[in-house]
Amino acid sequence: MMSTDAQAAIARLRDSGLLKSKGLVGGKWVDSYDGKTVQVQNPATGDVIANVPCMGKRETDDAISSAYNTFYSWSKRTASERSKCLRKWYDLIVSHKEDLALLITLEQGKPLKEALGEVSYGAAFIEFFAEEAKRIYGDIIPPTSSDRRLFVLKQPVGVVGAITPWNFPLAMITRKVGPALACGCTVIVKPSEYTPLTALAAADLALQAGIPPGALNVVMGNAPDIGDSLLQSTQVRKITFTGSTAVGKKLMAGSANTVKKVSLELGGNAPCIVFDDADLDVAVKGSLAAKFRNSGQTCVCANRILVQEGIYDEFANALTKAVQNLQVGNGLVEGVVQGPLINEAAVEKVEKFVNDATSKGANVILGGKRHSLGMTFYEPTILGNVNSEMLVSREEVFGPVAPLLPFKTEEEAIKIANDTNAGLAAYIFTKSIPRSWRVSEALEYGLVGVNEGLISTEVAPFGGAKQSGLGREGSKYGIDEYLELKYVCMGNLEA
Ligand code: ADP
Repeated sequence: MMSTDAQAAIARLRDSGLLKSKGLVGGKWVDSYDGKTVQVQNPATGDVIANVPCMGKRETDDAISSAYNTFYSWSKRTASERSKCLRKWYDLIVSHKEDLALLITLEQGKPLKEALGEVSYGAAFIEFFAEEAKRIYGDIIPPTSSDRRLFVLKQPVGVVGAITPWNFPLAMITRKVGPALACGCTVIVKPSEYTPLTALAAADLALQAGIPPGALNVVMGNAPDIGDSLLQSTQVRKITFTGSTAVGKKLMAGSANTVKKVSLELGGNAPCIVFDDADLDVAVKGSLAAKFRNSGQTCVCANRILVQEGIYDEFANALTKAVQNLQVGNGLVEGVVQGPLINEAAVEKVEKFVNDATSKGANVILGGKRHSLGMTFYEPTILGNVNSEMLVSREEVFGPVAPLLPFKTEEEAIKIANDTNAGLAAYIFTKSIPRSWRVSEALEYGLVGVNEGLISTEVAPFGGAKQSGLGREGSKYGIDEYLELKYVCMGNLEA
C-alpha cells in the first residue's frame, strides 16, 4: 500500500499518466512474466511510491528481439525523420519538465530545483543529438590507383544495451539513448531499480513523440540477470554503462565473449586544487558546487579538496561559512539544497570514511555525523588535515563530505591529484593563466574545470581516463560510440 504522503506527492503530477509501473517491451507496457515486483521508495521518507516489475532474462530476451527487429526499419529512416522524432521527444520532455522533476525528487531525493536542472540538462542531450543526427558525415579518401574510389561510411552499430545509475535518473539515460537513436540504433535501457519511474515516464514521452515501438525498451528488476542476457546476446552489439567501477569491469569482461563495443562511465576521485593565488570567492563557490551538488552523489563531485598552505585557513573558514548555510531536508520543501542520501548503505559508507579519517588524525571542522532529521540524511561535513592515506582520499565518498588536504607546492599538488586509479573530473582554482595551462595539461583526467565547479554540458565530451572509463558521451564525439566505420573500395572503374 502506498502511504498517504506518497499519494499526496503523486497527486501533484499534472499528467498522472506519466506514472508508469510496468516495463516497456516492443512498445507494450508489461509486467514481469512471473508477476514479481520491486518497491520504489522515496529516500527522504521511506514511503513506497510504486511497485515496478522485477524482470529478468526472459523479459530482456524479448526486449532484445524487439529492438533487433526494429533496428532494420529505424536505421533505414532518413536522418531527418529520426531527427524530427527526437526533436518531438525533446519538446515533450520540456513541456513535462515539472512532472519529470517531481518524479526525480520523489525517487532520488535531490531538491526539486536541482531536479528541474537535471531535466533541462537531460533534455539538452536529446535536442543536441536530434541536430547531430543530420551531421553524421562519412569520408572520401583519395585513392591509391586511378581506377579505384575509396569511401568511408558511418553506420549505426545495431542494438544497444544501456545500463544506468540512480544519481541522474533522466540525464544518464538521455545522453546514451539520444545519440543511439539519432544514428539509427535501437536500445534496451536498464535503469537503476532505485529510480525506474523517471525512465519509464521518459520512455512514455518517447512513444508519444513517435519513436517507434521496439526502438526504445525499458526493463528493470534483477540487475545481474538482465545484464547477463544483454551480454550473452549476439544481437546486442554495444553496451553503454554508467555506474560503479566494479560493475563496469564485470560488464567489460562479459562483453569479451561476443566482442561488443563498450563505453563505460565509472567512478571518479576528483581532486579540487585551490592554489594560494586563487580568487577566494570563486574558489569557495566553485568547490561548494563541485562538492555538494546532489549531496555529493555524482561521479564528478570533488572528492579531495587540496588547499595550498598560504590560503588554507582563509579558505577553510570561508567554505565552512558557506556550508553552514546549506539547508538539509526533503527535496520537495522550498529552500532545501541538500537532500537525503540514496539509502542506508550510502550513509554507512560515509560514516566509515569519516571515522577512518578522524582515527588517522583528521579534524572535523563541521558536521561529521548523521543529521537530526534521521532517515538517510547526513550533515554537510568538512574535514581538515586530511592526507592521502585516508579512505576518504583513496575512494569516492559519494556523500556530503569535503576533506581538506593541505599542500605546499604545485608539483606536490599534481602528484597527489594523480595518485589514484581514477581519472574522471578535476578542478583547479588559480588566477594564473600559465599555471592554469600547466596544471590542466598535467592532470590525468578526462575533464578539467578551471575556476569553475560545474562543467558538464551536452556540447562537450564527458568521460574518464584510467579506470574511470572508456569512451566519451555528449558532443560530436559522443555519437562515434554508436557508429561503426565501413570502408568501401570500388575497383576496376576504368575496365
Ligand atoms: P551504484 O553504486 O551507483 O548503484 P552500480 O554499478 O551498482 O552503481 O549500479 C549501476 C547500474 O548497474 C544499476 O542500474 C544497477 O542495477 C546495474 N547493475 C548492478 N550490477 C549489475 C550486473 N551484475 N549486471 C548488470 N547491471 C548491473
